[in-house]
Amino acid sequence: MTNSTHFTTQSIHAGTTPDPTTGAIITPIYQTTTFVQQAVGQDKGFTYSRTGNPTVAALEARLGALEGGLAACCFATGMAATTALALAVLKAGDHVVLSDVVYGGTSRLFRQVLEKFGVHSHFVDTSNLAALATALQSPTRLLFLETPANPTLKLTDLTAACKLGKEAGAIVAVDNTFLTAALQKPFVHGADVVVYSTTKYIEGHNSTVGGALIVQDAKLHEDIVFIKGTAGCTQSPFDSWLTLRGIKTLSLRINQHSANALVVATFLESHPAVANVYYPGLPSFKQYQLACRQQASGGGMLSFDLHGGSQVAIDLMNALQLCALAENLGSVETLVTHPASMTHASVPEEERHRLGISDGLVRLSVGLEDTTDIIADLTQALNVAVAKEVR
Ligand code: PLP
Repeated sequence: MTNSTHFTTQSIHAGTTPDPTTGAIITPIYQTTTFVQQAVGQDKGFTYSRTGNPTVAALEARLGALEGGLAACCFATGMAATTALALAVLKAGDHVVLSDVVYGGTSRLFRQVLEKFGVHSHFVDTSNLAALATALQSPTRLLFLETPANPTLKLTDLTAACKLGKEAGAIVAVDNTFLTAALQKPFVHGADVVVYSTTKYIEGHNSTVGGALIVQDAKLHEDIVFIKGTAGCTQSPFDSWLTLRGIKTLSLRINQHSANALVVATFLESHPAVANVYYPGLPSFKQYQLACRQQASGGGMLSFDLHGGSQVAIDLMNALQLCALAENLGSVETLVTHPASMTHASVPEEERHRLGISDGLVRLSVGLEDTTDIIADLTQALNVAVAKEVR
């Protein structure tokens, strides 16, 4: 275990020590259901892997340290983490305020599941602080922010929004999946809970699905751990082990994702077929000044639309060869996604269009391939798409 507070050192060492029995430098995969107890009422800190497991605990310790939180709790997926947060803090009759642009699954959970249990959600443009303040006038139990938001990359001013949320008496949660603690630290801005899909940059290699909640308050952590053990939305030891391995290179990877995304965004911005590029690292991005204040860099995600509209965008996505058409992000491979039919298909069409998630919006998770190859693939696919449009 390290005492260092440096992010790169912590991402390699925090939460783990050489195995006390063998000296193995890597935490073993404790692939076990149960833990034999010495006597009734006497255990070594673990009893049953639904409620706790040493490999998962090592990942939790590392995530907590990296985020600068008190404690972390890992889940089977990012959506399991968000669901556990809702179950831990909400009851029938509660009011929740969420960013209007959030991951489609988050929108689905609050609109289509929690509403049935009497939890009322209000999706507002949290980039507009006046609109947020108005929404918070109704007693609000939870403020759920996502910044940069999936898929438009719209930003919320975390310091200002957390302050408004706290003044209104709400628990403030921030989904930090797009940037991770390597590039953005929600606790520094006043958040109470940081939410992750570890499926993305944290594990980073397209090999696991997972999630985490990191908090500053011991009672809140206890409530979350109770839900995890009760609902059983636990992360598996093997997935935790892979995630522990992936995290070691998190800052190297995300800095390179960010550098590559800036190169690709600059290329797209100069291409005559491209109408708009949404990337917080571009000086032309509407909220560039806020991005410079609150993020260490632009991150690896961008989206864009084309002059030709949705059919040209679809033709482009179908013509890509290196960039894979797939529903994930944050991995070493460049992935392209059509939010309207994939990640955000469950957001009502009218609402989607109002939020700027047009049928022609293309989301790109820029990977770690050589940018020359990524740009060559985009160029050939743009040529194919534009040629089809002309025909
Ligand atoms: N949060 C964000 C920002 C996401 O993009 C996703 C998934 O794409 C999730 C949460 C949900 O994570 P998972 O797919 O691991 O359940």
